[in-house]
Amino acid sequence: MSDGRMTFDELKSWLQEYARLIAENRAELCELDAAIGDGDHGTNMSRGMDAVIGSLSGESIGDIAKQAGMTLVSTVGGASGPLYGTFFLRFAASAGAVSEIDAAQFAAAMRAGLDGIVARGKAEPNDKTMFDALAPAVQTLEMSATGNFTEALRAAAEAADKGRDGTIEMLARKGRASYLGERSVGHQDPGATSAALLLRAAAATLG
Ligand code: ADP
Ligand code: MG
Repeated sequence: MSDGRMTFDELKSWLQEYARLIAENRAELCELDAAIGDGDHGTNMSRGMDAVIGSLSGESIGDIAKQAGMTLVSTVGGASGPLYGTFFLRFAASAGAVSEIDAAQFAAAMRAGLDGIVARGKAEPNDKTMFDALAPAVQTLEMSATGNFTEALRAAAEAADKGRDGTIEMLARKGRASYLGERSVGHQDPGATSAALLLRAAAATLG
């Protein structure tokens, strides 16, 4: 998207690239989850994103994102399914039944998605979850919504990577990892890792 917009076709490319990155990093996501959870995050996400790609239908950005959200909720058993599912459902509602959105509307849709994750999972900053990668990325998009969109996406992906790395030292306060208490410290959060891939996919396809 060199014109500062995300089109309907670009949304599909973004989801396809995300599915590809999830498949490529499936083993790593499972290993990260095996250390502080039950080892299924890579399998959960690849099952979900394969299903999303297999059922990409709709006439607008809102339609496609809503379909993706519903598919994730219904095909992913773990905590991450309803959370990512809610993200895309809220993203869809914010973007609306349109064929393209501009950078500010994209930032608003990402914020709505993040708010949905918080409404559902009650994550707070530094709880060691996907929130810690997504929140700095959304903030970066909001701050650069009037500038170059390609640059904004690249900066957002970097912010997400930094947020993901920041989860290593955090003590988990949500989800399965929270059962470990102090023993969760020193491990990178799997959900923050998959969330950083979502932003990497956005920078690769939308920028
Ligand atoms: P499960 O924990 O049910 O096995 P997954 O392994 O697929 O599900 O996903 C685990 C990830 O979900 C965690 O790494 C974390 O980032 C995220 N997560 C868990 N609970 C929450 C929550 N309440 N809010 C936000 N993210 C959460
Ligand atoms: Mg798990």
